[in-house]
Amino acid sequence: MAFVIGLTGGIGSGKTTVANLFAAQRIDIIDADIVAREVVEPGSAGLQAIVERLGSDILLTDGSLNRSKLREAIFSDHQLKEWLNQLLHPMIREKMQQDIAAAQSPYCLLVVPLMVENNLQVMTNRLLVVDVDEETQIARTQQRDNVSAEQIRSILASQASREQRLAAADDVICNNGNGDNLEQQVARLHQEYLALSRQQNNTPQC
Ligand code: ADP
Repeated sequence: MAFVIGLTGGIGSGKTTVANLFAAQRIDIIDADIVAREVVEPGSAGLQAIVERLGSDILLTDGSLNRSKLREAIFSDHQLKEWLNQLLHPMIREKMQQDIAAAQSPYCLLVVPLMVENNLQVMTNRLLVVDVDEETQIARTQQRDNVSAEQIRSILASQASREQRLAAADDVICNNGNGDNLEQQVARLHQEYLALSRQQNNTPQC
């Protein structure tokens, strides 16, 4: 049985950076953002359902989903947004379960930006939160995405608060400091997760 560590954090907290450090330890990473794209790939049931509802105008000329058009459509249509969530969320969860079952490393990392918001930590054995102070979070996101501090603040307001995330956490990585420190924190957690996954695999099951 797969041992699953959930990884979450607010925008620009350092999830991708941390996931890359675990990947460097040969840990399999399942990333919800990638899975969310896979379930609407050309030929998928997800894309077919979207085309049935919105017509082929929602496709780009190469047959892939026109994401910005879909984003605009759901921005002004709450019912459509609900319909889309109800269509895609179960597909995303199912694909993440399949990827977890196929993982080969002693434990795997399930990276979900909105883990706490969508209560997806139920899919994990343990939740790791990347925590960062708001100032650092805004400065790093601004530098990465070239967007205004105001835009980032509005995204922050739409996400779970730092406190809500920390309340759900089993483990916390503090990412206010520099990269060296991050590597040490990941190395320590990696050893702990290896030990925990060994324990789980030694537990007799019916
Ligand atoms: P997330 O995936 O949570 O949105 P990222 O891992 O992309 O966050 O990190 C946001 C930005 O901050 C990236 O440009 C990344 O390179 C940078 N970053 C992350 N951690 C650190 C750190 N400890 N020191 C300096 N820059 C960092």
